[in-house]
Amino acid sequence: MRPHTSRADLGEGHVLSSARHADVVIVGAGVAGLSAAHQLTSAGVTVTVLEAAPTVGGRMATERIDGFRLDRIGPLVNTSYPELRRTPGLAGLGLELRSFSPGVLVHSEGRLHRAGVRRSARRGSSHTPRGVEGALTAARALASAPRTPLGEAFEQARLATALGRLAATPPSRLLARPELPALDALDARGFSTRTVNGFLRPLLSALLGDPELTTSSRVADLVLRGFARGRMCVPAGGAATLPELLAEALPPGTVRTGVRVTDASISSVTTEEHGRVSCRSLLLATGARTAAGLLPGLRVPAFHPVTVLHHTAPEPPLNEPVLLLDADRTGPVSHTTVMSEVDPSRAPHGRALVTSTVLGRPPADLDRRVRAQLAALYGTPTDDWELLAVHHDPEAVPAMPPPHDPRRAVRLLDGLYVCGDHRDTSTVQGALFSGRRAAQAILRDFGVQPGYAAASLSTAAA
Ligand SMILES: Cc1cc2nc3c(=O)[nH]c(=O)nc-3n(C[C@H](O)[C@H](O)[C@H](O)COP(=O)(O)OP(=O)(O)OC[C@H]3O[C@@H](n4cnc5c(N)ncnc54)[C@H](O)[C@@H]3O)c2cc1C
Repeated sequence: MRPHTSRADLGEGHVLSSARHADVVIVGAGVAGLSAAHQLTSAGVTVTVLEAAPTVGGRMATERIDGFRLDRIGPLVNTSYPELRRTPGLAGLGLELRSFSPGVLVHSEGRLHRAGVRRSARRGSSHTPRGVEGALTAARALASAPRTPLGEAFEQARLATALGRLAATPPSRLLARPELPALDALDARGFSTRTVNGFLRPLLSALLGDPELTTSSRVADLVLRGFARGRMCVPAGGAATLPELLAEALPPGTVRTGVRVTDASISSVTTEEHGRVSCRSLLLATGARTAAGLLPGLRVPAFHPVTVLHHTAPEPPLNEPVLLLDADRTGPVSHTTVMSEVDPSRAPHGRALVTSTVLGRPPADLDRRVRAQLAALYGTPTDDWELLAVHHDPEAVPAMPPPHDPRRAVRLLDGLYVCGDHRDTSTVQGALFSGRRAAQAILRDFGVQPGYAAASLSTAAA
């Protein structure tokens, strides 16, 4: 147990006594709740975060098994996520990110094609909008493959131009564009079937957790913009590193794990184990379904199910830190990576860790079909690989079909607030940002000046 959290059931009988009252009670210690706790405690507000699970992090949990660090999620974050820089406790405490470098490999028409986002020396120069070079290089790298999944030269040029434009367009302008399901928008923009199926669809499916691309085209544009401007990466040491860093930087005792809230109102919450905790304001930072259970009337979205499988192999099947996308859709796996090549700290010395993600409902004979597909993708037998863990989450990613409001209200009433990825974009960035928006609303109602620029809220991207 980390020192920043207190198990509520440790110590004397009157557990939680130091947290019987707080200015703000936050229900849920996922990244949204922890982000809000940071903003509030930095402004001098007393906060108690109540978390039902024994550890912080929510969906960003990491299991430790036999020296492996196994994430529940297939955690793709992006260096261009603004909240990774802005959230106190992450930038300051040195969150380490391990990049997929040079980027992605696409398995298309039975062959692997490289799509590296190499950085040019001119990146960020006064003549080149930040990120555009990377986007163009990704398209060119794919186009230079012997049998490209991008098709003819004009199709390659179209993709390179589109990615470059997205990289250079401010999020506010992307969010003002007409909104369609992402797949329809790709068709409407004149991309060929080959470019869509060979690259854009597998990439967006992986980034959105949505294999049918029913997500709003505005959100798809935001994530493509992030892909073009930044690097895909994972937190060093496992997804849980990110929420753990956030929790460590809070005042001691702020987070109480192992405390499940069963009833909630503006002025108090009831916990399963320890009775009532009173507060001046309440912030619900649980997933969407629990939030609606505690506050009937809140919307419950549809969800995209995601399953993550971890295998260990005696040798790495690929000696590169790349994300491999299966454009051919030859099996249930959407994307896979040799995680121990991306982040060596996740596997014991001499063992390889392969992490693969299945989108949608998994088939009954999941492991057998995944192994067969991985054997084809990596070009090596997988019979002697050992399955370490399978994590299935039927409510992994809140669906974002059009019309999608990525800035859903976080203030319900004076004293009652809600945050989480379901109020924003269904990403780590969206969850962190929703927490920051909720904290700002609370501080405004308290009449406290937040310690950060409100103006920056309007510019944050997915
Ligand atoms: C398999 C999978 C893959 C994903 N892949 C990506 C990806 O590649 N990139 C990306 O950006 N995002 C990805 N996501 C989404 C990302 O993980 C989430 O958007 C983000 O972690 C949500 O954070 P949150 O704080 O909003 O919610 P949560 O992490 O769900 O936190 C809510 C917290 O509330 C607690 N809680 C619930 N009920 C109670 C109660 N009654 N009392 C007290 N506490 C309670 C829960 O235990 C939990 O800790 C993925 C998610 C999954 C599951």
